[in-house]
Amino acid sequence: MSKTKRAYKYRFYPTDEQKRLLAQTFGCCRFVYNWGLHIRSTAYKGGVKLSYNDLAALLPDLKKQYPWLADVSSVPLQQSLRHLDKGFKNFFERRAKYPTFKKKQHAQSATYAANALKWNGATLTLAKMEAPLNIHWHRPLPKNAQPSSVTITKDCANRYFVSILVEEDMKPLPVVNNMVGLDLGIKSMVALSTGESVGNPRYFAKDEKRLAKAQRRHAKKKKGSKNRNKARLKIARVHARIQDRRRDYQHKLSTRIVHENQVICIESLAVKNMVKNHKLAKAISDVGWSELIRQLEYKSKWYGRTLIKIDRWYPSSKTCHGCKHVVDALTLDIREWVCPACGVVHDRDTNAARNILAEGLSASACGGSGRPVRAKARQATPIEAGNAHS
Ligand SMILES: [Zn+2]
Repeated sequence: MSKTKRAYKYRFYPTDEQKRLLAQTFGCCRFVYNWGLHIRSTAYKGGVKLSYNDLAALLPDLKKQYPWLADVSSVPLQQSLRHLDKGFKNFFERRAKYPTFKKKQHAQSATYAANALKWNGATLTLAKMEAPLNIHWHRPLPKNAQPSSVTITKDCANRYFVSILVEEDMKPLPVVNNMVGLDLGIKSMVALSTGESVGNPRYFAKDEKRLAKAQRRHAKKKKGSKNRNKARLKIARVHARIQDRRRDYQHKLSTRIVHENQVICIESLAVKNMVKNHKLAKAISDVGWSELIRQLEYKSKWYGRTLIKIDRWYPSSKTCHGCKHVVDALTLDIREWVCPACGVVHDRDTNAARNILAEGLSASACGGSGRPVRAKARQATPIEAGNAHS
């Protein structure tokens, strides 16, 4: 068993009083975050790197200058400086872009550490609030869970969510013999090396129609009018629905793949991003390849599975899985092709997924460690890597 931090997210319905306090808290968190970003940016331009502690030490003075900051719990304010610190760390370690200012129009959030919340095993109450949050518990928290922090968000569709971070013991699943390779499909969302294609893009077509309709309506309303604002909210709601359905779909898929297979081979996002092709780039963002990889990564870790990520580009689509012959070109409209060397007929996506499985397995010694393995796949020649991998 391994201990792991796991977030449980629920929708909740604040009272008017809670809404007011949360709005105030979001505003103060945003203010402190933007203030910190400004101070750190100014220092950074002057060649000075400030830390979380440097900024936290300035908070009391900031509160004297802006007394309304004291109307909300001080914990979320400190936490915003922690988020900012993380943003800078990610930037310095080249994982993210330079942090940007937070805007009122975007989703809002505030994080409460354990010292600013009360959890009695059934109800959750935040600092400065009298009543507990009215949470819709669509699934229970694990028994004896102790929340280590809680993040409140309000999305653009004005819905409130609480994400509760708890430490949990994860039991590995029983070992199974299956291994699978996954590729981003052209005609489906994901192609499996078993020949199965999952995720019909048409699943979301209805949502997209609804979104286009909402956008057209919004464009017709007078700027600054009440109706325009209503129409904007409508768009946000459709977006939220699309996002929810997508996320839900990805969770079902990643859970199923991790349950059914001991070893899972995929190409990393970096490899996918080398594809300089608009159609495929859109497919990658539509499918949420990075989110799917993220879920596969942590679920593999939880359940004792091995995830093999192929880090280097190789022609997975253009290589015949049977005889390893590599064809020169394979445009995106080609769904099926015949290997000129051995005559086998390939379904484009399945063949690619099979190659990814083989490449992942050959490039790493597989055990049931559950840790993601970085596969040192065959290095592409500069000429190969320079071509559009399609
Ligand atoms: Zn062949």
